[in-house]
Amino acid sequence: MKFEDYRIADEIKLNLTEAGFKKPTDIQYKAIPAILKGEDVLAIAQTGTGKTAAFAIPVIDLILKKKSSSRSEGIKCLVMVPTRELATQITKVFQQLSKHTKVHAYGIVGGVEQDPQIAKLEKGIDILIATPGRLFDLVNQGHIRLTDVQTLILDEADHMLKLGFLKDIQDVIKYLPKKRQTLFFSATIDEQIKKIAYSLVTRAIRIQI
Ligand code: AMP
Repeated sequence: MKFEDYRIADEIKLNLTEAGFKKPTDIQYKAIPAILKGEDVLAIAQTGTGKTAAFAIPVIDLILKKKSSSRSEGIKCLVMVPTRELATQITKVFQQLSKHTKVHAYGIVGGVEQDPQIAKLEKGIDILIATPGRLFDLVNQGHIRLTDVQTLILDEADHMLKLGFLKDIQDVIKYLPKKRQTLFFSATIDEQIKKIAYSLVTRAIRIQI
């Protein structure tokens, strides 16, 4: 199967062609249809497998479909990641794959000035990629509204837990609508991660590659 054969927006297909992506990787082949259907997903996949595009492609498509029928200006997808480096890397993938669309992705990280981030947020963005600490600060200060979020993505969840972000994640999740899609991506799985994953995802499709 090629990306051409997918029922996703033509603009996304153009972005995929420009990125040089012709065929889905294993994780993409398994995750994209489930995410497009609105399912929760629990995926065990390492970096290098194409996991970022596995969630970015369907999420951008879902937002594009919703955009044509609603005028909501709020954040529609929140991606939580453990490190600044990963936030920057994932933001680039979202921006590359949403280039010829009206979907806007933006990344915020700690350790830099808040004001430019607040200014950007006020202009309206669709997909927010963030590390948990700075995210919680900005939510708490009222600069980020999460009531329109339809999809929550936790990427490298095992790494976030190792870095002690569980409390920040739980605090942010309180601000999200209960009725949402949750995608839980982790490189490894053990009993603790499984417990946390199943407290967040309901009837998830499990994908292991
Ligand atoms: P990731 O696992 O998301 O860090 O992606 C690993 C690398 O694979 C990145 O450099 C991507 O640009 C590349 N990649 C992801 N999906 C595809 C694809 N379908 N075809 C070719 N390269 C890809």
